[in-house]
Amino acid sequence: MKFDVITLFPKMFESPFEESIIARAIENKIIELKYHDMRQWAWNNYGAVDDKPYGGDVGMLIRVDVIGKALNDLGIKKGGGDSKIIMLSARGKKYNQQKAEELAKLKNITLLCGRYEGFDQRISDLLIDEEISIGDYVLTGGEIGAMVVIDSVARLLPGVLGKDKSSKTESFSEIEVGGKKIRPVEYPQYTRPQRYEGLEVPDILISGDLKKIEEWKETQMKKSL
Ligand code: SAM
Repeated sequence: MKFDVITLFPKMFESPFEESIIARAIENKIIELKYHDMRQWAWNNYGAVDDKPYGGDVGMLIRVDVIGKALNDLGIKKGGGDSKIIMLSARGKKYNQQKAEELAKLKNITLLCGRYEGFDQRISDLLIDEEISIGDYVLTGGEIGAMVVIDSVARLLPGVLGKDKSSKTESFSEIEVGGKKIRPVEYPQYTRPQRYEGLEVPDILISGDLKKIEEWKETQMKKSL
């Protein structure tokens, strides 16, 4: 899968993705990350990509012609069957594991990272497939949101996590309990030492009774709903 990120701060992505699982996924060519500096499509010779909003609001907005040119030059169009252009935006649809699973089926994801007061509305109306918010709070820019999308989608791709890990049911994965589909959070887990500052690992987990352990896990997960 290829991720194209259009951002004013490409360097922000270097360190988080140069370590561990995502770095290995890049090395193994499971994912490709391309960062495009938005300033190369600046509308003036000073590298500006933003302009004053009509209507007298404070702050600046990223211009539609800048993003139009960026997508054009990169040959990226909205409405592709196995590709999507996603704008990071506080007012977008709230991101969750179900969305990550949906995006993991695509071949190419383009992420538009906003700055300043955000984007000219016509970018949403004309140029993108969807707007995603990573939560009900306002960030200084879309880069951290883009990293959240890349990380959560990449780890779902075959070969990115080890075999054991990828077969494990994780928080927010869909499971069926009593004929009902649910997305609970993971049950509590413990490792050694068995006792720490008076707190013991639940007896059931050391009982060796696999059926009972499974029932206990199910009960714990249901508590989160
Ligand atoms: N004026 C905007 C508003 O009130 O919604 C906030 C703009 S914010 C300072 C600049 C950029 O950060 C946005 O264009 C967006 O790309 C990104 N951003 C801020 N909060 C976000 C969130 N919760 N989810 C995803 N992106 C966010």
